[in-house]
Parts: sequence; C-alpha cells; structure tokens
Amino acid sequence: MEEKVLLVDDSRQARVALKDALKGVFSSFIEAEDGIAAIKAFVEEKPGFIITDIEMPSINGYRFISTIRNMEDGRDVPIILISGTKDSLKKKLTGFNLGASDFVLKPFEGEELLARVKSLLKMRNLMEELREKNALLEKLAVTDELTGLHNRRHFFEAVKEQMALGLRHGFKIACLLIDIDHFKKINDTYGHAAGDEVLKKLGSLLRACKREGEILARFGGEEFIMCLFNTDSGHARLAAERFRKLVADHDFSPVCPGLRITVSIGLALFPQDRVSSIDDLIRTADKAMYASKTAGRDRVTVSDFTPDSIPA
Ligand code: GH3
Ligand code: MG
Ligand code: MG
Ligand code: MG
Repeated sequence: MEEKVLLVDDSRQARVALKDALKGVFSSFIEAEDGIAAIKAFVEEKPGFIITDIEMPSINGYRFISTIRNMEDGRDVPIILISGTKDSLKKKLTGFNLGASDFVLKPFEGEELLARVKSLLKMRNLMEELREKNALLEKLAVTDELTGLHNRRHFFEAVKEQMALGLRHGFKIACLLIDIDHFKKINDTYGHAAGDEVLKKLGSLLRACKREGEILARFGGEEFIMCLFNTDSGHARLAAERFRKLVADHDFSPVCPGLRITVSIGLALFPQDRVSSIDDLIRTADKAMYASKTAGRDRVTVSDFTPDSIPA
C-alpha cells in the first residue's frame, strides 16, 4: 500500500534532508512550505503521516498542528514536530500540548528519525486495526448471523428509543410479529440446511420490502419482528397484508423445489390500552400472532383491546 507523508518546512534544504532520511519507509512525499499550503495539501492528499517545522511564514507549525487535530481526518495522524535547539523544552511542551506525537531536534540524525517514524507508524497501524475490529464487533453484536438482519438485541434498543420519541411527539408505533407456518415440516421434508436457506431468503424478501426507517429483525428461530413508525392501525394492517402476500406468492425454488410458505402475523400498536412498554408491545403482538394461527394461519390479526376482544 502507498504510504504518503506530508513534509512541511519553509527550507527546501530541510525538506530534501527529510526525504533522504525517509525514502525507505514512504513511497510518496508531499511537500509544503508553510502552514496554509500544508493544510491544503492535507485536505487534498490525505497523507497518513506528517512531519512539520515550527517557524514558518503565514501559519506556523503550532497553528498547523491544532488545525489538523481539530479535523475529523486529522485526529489520529501521527505528527512529528521538528525544530532548532533554541528554547527546545518550551517548544516541545507547547507542541505536545497541541497534539504533536513526537519532537525531533534539528539537525537530526537520519537513523534516529527513521526509527521514531517507524515506531509511530506501527502504533498508528495497530490503532487502525483495533478500530476496525471494534467496528466489526459492534456490528456482530447487533446482527443475526444466519440472515444478516438485525438481531433481537438491536431491535429492543432501537424500538425503545423510538417509543420514547413516539410518546414525546405523539406518533404511534406498530409492531408486527411474523411467524412461519409449519416450519418444522419444511425442516423435516427438505432438511435443516434447506430450512436455513428458506430463513435467509425470507429475511431478504422482508428486507427488500420494508421501507426506510422501519426496523426489521430476526426475533429468534422462524420468527421475524418489525416496527413501523408514525402509523395507525389501518395503515399498519395494510403493510402487514403486503408482507403476508409477498411471502405467500414467493416461489422458494431452487432451494426447495416448488415450496411455498405462509406466515401468521400479529400486529400490536403503541401506545394503546394496556401497552405501555416494549415487553407489553411484543407480548400483545405475540398473542395476536397466535390468534392468526388458531384462526387458520396465513393471516394478519390486529390486537385491539375493546372489552370483548381482550386476548386470553
Ligand atoms: P406453527 O405454524 O405453529 O408456527 O408451526 P411451526 O412448525 O412453524 O412451529 P414450531 O414452533 O413447532 O417449530 C418451529 C421450528 O423452527 C422448529 C425448529 O427446529 C425450527 N427452527 C428454529 N430455528 C431454526 C433455524 O435457525 N434453522 C432451521 N432450519 N430451523 C429452525
Ligand atoms: Mg522554518
Ligand atoms: Mg415460532
Ligand atoms: Mg412457526
């Protein structure tokens, strides 16, 4: 990979000496003669390393460092400050306070500079690796391995947040619990691996059909869960019917030749009577889903708590 360094010094001779010392580690050198040119070069070229002088016309090395450190891309780039011996302790302390990674005195020993650069590069690369691993872990923590959809844990977090917003801004949330009908038979007939493929396919069908902002997750086993926001019972029922029909009309060949599946859906709204928490919401959607099962499957049941329809 190309490793780019930005060399900032008003003396051409100093820049040549730096290049000479560092040609073993960097494959690309960008040069700037003052702080303004250096900021421009940083934005345009995105170097992964900076070496800068302090005394320069226009913007000096200190102001250059603080500008870089205030930029999103510049927070972690290693910066070596390089300067003459006069007042070196004061300069060093000021530089470190502003975010310099290291300080080297002029005239420098090429080998020492090289060693310091290598050690900072190593540290930078380790930090990058760590950041990438953390991002991956964060993603894995909220992703269902089989379907690639969000998992239950993400669903709870995201929906709780939306419920608080819903209460504050007066919008309703609809929760759809979607359970595959007679899934056990699919496993028994086609095998568990084919069953997994059906779950994956169903996950991608639902994902493709959901609208932006709606939350979809695999709730567990052969159950999926969705939340729609800023909706009402009529619109949510239409959406649920759309999902039900989408599944019923899909041909699962070639994974399972000729296979058609259906889903039973339970729909609950928040806020509504007796639904004041996420657990209430899911429990209520689950009861409605079971009502769909007992009524013959492949249907949508909307939970509503009028006195004669309270689920047992
Ligand atoms: P119903 O219409 O009443 O929902 O019937 P069902 O067979 O779908 O329901 P049941 O709860 O009896 O069985 C669910 C089955 O889903 C049993 C289990 O083996 C299967 N299952 C759960 N998770 C997975 C999975 O990750 N992969 C596969 N292949 N099967 C799974
Ligand atoms: Mg200078
Ligand atoms: Mg189930
Ligand atoms: Mg089922």
